Amino acid sequence: MSLEQIPATLIPGDGIGPEIMDSVTAVLTAAQAPFVWESHKAGLAGIEEYDTPLPQNTLESIRKTGLALKGPLTTPVGGGFKSINVTLRQEFGLYANVRPVKTLIPEGRFSDIDLVVVRENLEGFYAAQEHYLPADGYKEGIATCTGYTTRLESQRIVKFAFDYAMANGRKKVTIVHKANILKKLSGLFLEEARKVAKTYAGKVDFDERIVDACAMQLVINPWNYDVIVTTNLFGDILSDLASGLVGGLGLAPGSNIGTDAAIFEAVHGSAPDIAGKNTANPLALLMAATLMLRHVKHENTAKRIEIAIERVIKDRKALTPDIGGTASTRDMEQALIHFLD
Ligand code: NAD
Repeated sequence: MSLEQIPATLIPGDGIGPEIMDSVTAVLTAAQAPFVWESHKAGLAGIEEYDTPLPQNTLESIRKTGLALKGPLTTPVGGGFKSINVTLRQEFGLYANVRPVKTLIPEGRFSDIDLVVVRENLEGFYAAQEHYLPADGYKEGIATCTGYTTRLESQRIVKFAFDYAMANGRKKVTIVHKANILKKLSGLFLEEARKVAKTYAGKVDFDERIVDACAMQLVINPWNYDVIVTTNLFGDILSDLASGLVGGLGLAPGSNIGTDAAIFEAVHGSAPDIAGKNTANPLALLMAATLMLRHVKHENTAKRIEIAIERVIKDRKALTPDIGGTASTRDMEQALIHFLD
């Protein structure tokens, strides 16, 4: 049992967020995880209570704890407020988005997949200025978007990927880009990535792929990949693709790492189509919590929870519908607690 107490911010989130967060905190409590939660709102829940999607007390809490577990937040499509996920990454300089993708269920399309996508989290088209210009008789006939890449951020993310590979016993880093077409935006990233890769020669192998070829090869031969490092938009798409190989978004966790703060979350969104139905899969958020436990060096508790997850999946009696079962979120939570050592 851990006597250490670690203050951490908890954001239940929107849609299925509060349901899966309840289950995840119940499992963490049963596993005697060290976190002492400060619960705060963001997204639509923030608007309802404070009239803003990112209330000041939420920001202050993360600034203080430097650690957060976050449920999914709804972002309006097309208009409305800017993504709170993107704002949080920028506010806390969370430059590295790490998404491990591992086969857990036999129903996934492939077995024995074990790769990690490291995504640059602050630049590219996610930090872009978007504009409409008049054309062809339309007031908004052209849409423009000015993404950017910096040398320093490219170096930092690629170095992070290589250091991650070394610390986690991984053998190869694949640099993914589109420098053949986006010669400056993606070319500058590739240039810096190659320089960083050379400094790891003899320690970690590296190769390069153009993003479209990478997407194709991930489907045909995902075992060829170990650590992928890439820019923001490509990383977003490739990590969702990779999660599809191992059973879908319900099993994909992610972490956003900065120098002074880290935020852990499921890769999936707020799933409004199943919100409130007690059928959402809590495993992706729970797996994000195991990443958070490892981040604070509570390896043993993380491992115990991972073993409970494996047992629940093997037992098959408490699987949610997205992974082929008929169990509810709460059934799965109870099974996880039952299988905890
Ligand atoms: P989504 O991930 O919410 O849902 C896609 C599909 O996967 C849906 O059919 C949904 O039911 C299913 N699904 C997702 N999570 C599941 C789970 N845990 N268990 C079972 N099924 C699950 O993607 P979307 O519908 O494109 O987005 C909905 C909202 O979420 C949007 O507002 C979007 O901006 C937001 N979003 C937030 C995050 C985040 O907070 N990190 C990430 C992605 C999308």
